[in-house]
Amino acid sequence: MNKIAFIGAGNMARAIIIGLVNSGVAAQNIMVANPSEGKRLQLEQEFGVLQTSDNLKASEFANVIVLCVKPHFIEDVCSQISQAIDITGKLFISVAAGTTVAQIQAALTKESATELAPVVRVMPNTPSQLGLGMSGLYPSKEVTAEQKESADTLMTAVGKVIWLETEAKINDVIAVAGSAPAYYFLFMEAMEKHAITLGFSAEESRMLVQQTAFGSAQMVVQNSDLEISTLRGNVTSKGGTTHAAIEKFKEQGIDEMVKNSMNAAIARAEEMA
Ligand code: NAP
Repeated sequence: MNKIAFIGAGNMARAIIIGLVNSGVAAQNIMVANPSEGKRLQLEQEFGVLQTSDNLKASEFANVIVLCVKPHFIEDVCSQISQAIDITGKLFISVAAGTTVAQIQAALTKESATELAPVVRVMPNTPSQLGLGMSGLYPSKEVTAEQKESADTLMTAVGKVIWLETEAKINDVIAVAGSAPAYYFLFMEAMEKHAITLGFSAEESRMLVQQTAFGSAQMVVQNSDLEISTLRGNVTSKGGTTHAAIEKFKEQGIDEMVKNSMNAAIARAEEMA
């Protein structure tokens, strides 16, 4: 049975903890460490998890340590842990964007150490908060099959996962899934704005847009045997209203626009690494 420590008790830690508890992991096998009280006390009250202000206490407790702090704190937190406790046999899972496995391993390596720590780098997205996340996972070569299974179970508790063959693919996952909720929000915002100019109330516009997006996503999910282009074709009669709109999107270069925007996310991720 894994004992799991969360270093940082913010949004991502909370999302994963909710998923774990809901999937049957005993709260007494989870400890959260966070400097300020509010978030960790709330997690204790709501789910019965153990909590502390001391990263070392949580790291000693666990064999799986989930690093859920902002990227600029990761290296300090890792060296604090590795300097003070024996990390042999412990798996480190990092959800921090832009911090590489090599950086995490370097921060976890004491001068006297001869082996690198096993690290799984995870790129989740915000729907993880609803259990509907999509994560890409990349394991360092020190990660055992059993540890890989533990990381898979952890992230499957908040959504779906794919395993990546190279760390560089993390940046591609950012473009396709990590940053992508905002692309859909942007599209929905644009539709909502125009619905208002067409004379619908703000409330009606929101409902028209959100219910259509939700229903469309459900159609894709529930018809996974069909290509998305087939679903689109099924609602696009030649010469009809949908056809007119789709042709206008194509004429204005939607494929090129999406490709260039996704590539901009990859380029930015590479710059930040
Ligand atoms: P967050 O809500 O700001 O949570 C970070 C937490 O870390 C805060 O509760 C903060 O505590 C705590 N913290 C700060 N310094 C610490 C230290 N030295 N030791 C232990 N805890 C410390 O951020 P988040 O959205 O959960 O993001 C966490 C990580 O997930 C980031 O690296 C981010 O890149 C990654 N991520 C998040 C998402 C997402 O959907 N949110 C998606 C992809 C990746 P205080 O509030 O007390 O300072």
